[in-house]
Amino acid sequence: MRCDVVIVGGGIVGLATARAIAHRWPGRSLLVLEKEPRVAAHQSGRNSGVIHSGLYYRPGSVKARLAVEGARRMVAFCREHGVAHAITGKVVVATCERELPALTELARRGRENGVPGVEEIGRERLAEIEPHARGVRALWVPGTGVVDFATVAGKIVELLRAAGAQVRLGVRFLALRRDGDRAIVATTDGEIEARAVINCAGLHSDRVAAQSGDRPDARIVPFRGEYYRLAPDAESLVRGLIYPVPDSRFPFLGVHFTRLVGGGVEAGPNAVLAFSREGTSRAAFDLGDALATLGYGGFWRMAARHARTGLSEQWRSISKRAFVRALRVLVPEIETRHLAAGGAGVRAQALAPDGALVDDFRIVRGARAVHVLNAPSPAATASLAIGERIADLAAELVEE
Ligand SMILES: Cc1cc2nc3c(=O)[nH]c(=O)nc-3n(C[C@H](O)[C@H](O)[C@H](O)COP(=O)(O)OP(=O)(O)OC[C@H]3O[C@@H](n4cnc5c(N)ncnc54)[C@H](O)[C@@H]3O)c2cc1C
Repeated sequence: MRCDVVIVGGGIVGLATARAIAHRWPGRSLLVLEKEPRVAAHQSGRNSGVIHSGLYYRPGSVKARLAVEGARRMVAFCREHGVAHAITGKVVVATCERELPALTELARRGRENGVPGVEEIGRERLAEIEPHARGVRALWVPGTGVVDFATVAGKIVELLRAAGAQVRLGVRFLALRRDGDRAIVATTDGEIEARAVINCAGLHSDRVAAQSGDRPDARIVPFRGEYYRLAPDAESLVRGLIYPVPDSRFPFLGVHFTRLVGGGVEAGPNAVLAFSREGTSRAAFDLGDALATLGYGGFWRMAARHARTGLSEQWRSISKRAFVRALRVLVPEIETRHLAAGGAGVRAQALAPDGALVDDFRIVRGARAVHVLNAPSPAATASLAIGERIADLAAELVEE
């Protein structure tokens, strides 16, 4: 089989990339390979569903630019194609004086990144927006919204198929070899000859890069995020989205409250080291995945640096009481009886050999390939903008 571009991974980044390419070159043949029987089976279908506004990210970073642009594109996409979403706005709450400098820095980043309407507010205004949240000061971010990214992914598949692109489910990418200016892709369903291959394999993106003969400069380490669901009688404690001031040393945002687009309120996620890249239960264990993490020097360097935070996240995973304590800092009326176990998702977090958690999105060109080596949150929000960026890189490969 022959086609111009093969995309590995039917998560939202792979599908958004396919959409961008299909838009630009309607005549090009395009194939998305997804190993699972459905799209958005991993990160893209197991997240908080927040359309982030672009507040947190270092000004000038790829993340900052693509998050702001991506959020705008995501909302426009949902409006155009009738995908249920809501612009709820969110508050980021400083619960003590010590957090105020970090809150001011977030406000500065938000303004610099061009996030519309970011406003520092005091206790009274916070009480108007979220009457049950407690804090000394907060940021109000009116443009933040919620959506079900799996529904967005499903809609993109529908549009792709209508435009003549193929999305093949249950087919796994195995390897890539080059033959002159062609890429020969081995899959569980035979070989495909392509001009360019785009690796959007999420939790397996480092492996797919290595199977393509390229050397990723970071390794994926999986971090599970677990949620609780608020009981119906506690849902009125949260109107929209309530977030803490995050610890700037980590790429995770801290446990928060999210009013879901389909109804109900979730609390979480924590960030716990996982020993299975795709296993969402606490007991999930995959020997290959565990050895990949434990055999990586970067992991031990990170562990030494962040041992304390890592252990407290592990403890919060085991102890519901500890989880409730973290939530009560934001909303004191929350009680243990209000929380029922919810779902979980595993984040693909790239870790550099020196133990640094890679903060920015990382999209690199290989030989006849583009690899998305780090696309953590807010990559679902930013997916339509990430897709455009990858399409620029793919264009160079296809035209070469
Ligand atoms: C707990 C949690 C909360 C989050 N909250 C948010 C949020 O509120 N807002 C936000 O914007 N982002 C959020 N994110 C981040 C967001 O979900 C991810 O950044 C985004 O979904 C990444 O999409 P992806 O397509 O790169 O990866 P994935 O969705 O993981 O897709 C990769 C796909 O590649 C497939 N694949 C892998 N290997 C192969 C192979 N060899 N052959 C074929 N297919 C293969 C996999 O099966 C998978 O379907 C969250 C993530 C998590 C885990």
